[in-house]
Amino acid sequence: MKVEIIPCLSDNYSYLIYEKNSNTVSIVDPAEFKACDEAIKKFKKLDFILNTHHHADHVDGNLELKKKYNSKIFGFELDKDRIPGIDVFLKDNQKHKIGNLEFETIFVPGHTRGHIVFYFHNEKIVFTGDTLFSLGCGRVFEGTHRDMFKSLNKIKSLPLNTQIYCGHEYTKSNLNFCLSYDKNNIALKKKASDIEQKLKKGLPTIPTTLGEEIKTNIFLRCDDPGIKKALNLEVSHEEEIFSKLRDLKDSF
Ligand code: ZN
Ligand code: FE
Repeated sequence: MKVEIIPCLSDNYSYLIYEKNSNTVSIVDPAEFKACDEAIKKFKKLDFILNTHHHADHVDGNLELKKKYNSKIFGFELDKDRIPGIDVFLKDNQKHKIGNLEFETIFVPGHTRGHIVFYFHNEKIVFTGDTLFSLGCGRVFEGTHRDMFKSLNKIKSLPLNTQIYCGHEYTKSNLNFCLSYDKNNIALKKKASDIEQKLKKGLPTIPTTLGEEIKTNIFLRCDDPGIKKALNLEVSHEEEIFSKLRDLKDSF
């Protein structure tokens, strides 16, 4: 399984997945037709489109790509009326194949009420859309803070060496937020310099790994005593910390 990053719009990432043996070409969240079409030119085909959620900056390439390549579009059953051109209605915890590759859908409501992530368990790769970002998480638009907290915990339970491909290049601003409430985190400081170097060269900060995120992403560290202290919420439960951080980040 080869994953190629397709930068789209101002800060979106669409992803091209290629599997050689079955010669299968797929795209996760085609944000725009042009950039995706350019990326699949060398294959002259697009078998599948996988959508994490219905927002325009994740599905805008759907119809034009489907029209040109006759691709099959996968989306969550709850979003069957909002994902353009949807063909296959996925369910939570369902396994599906694209060529030789098998993925599992994990339902992660919060950002939207129909958000899913695609977990390729054999390769240990997850496409997290706008639920988990590097050093951040998505805004809560259609769900509750509790939904988002639980959804992040589902992702958190995957193997630590899982590679994470998310929907946006938000890492730098997320980093600034993490640094302001998790000042003494040595792993975060180290990641900060890695990020600066990549961005300086114009490179994506993606993929990241779950193990790295658990050490540095403040939204996955809500049980950390230092963070609780920085918020003056020493006796609060993890979920309250999450909620407070999400509010703070919304106005950061
Ligand atoms: Zn979104
Ligand atoms: Fe988005």
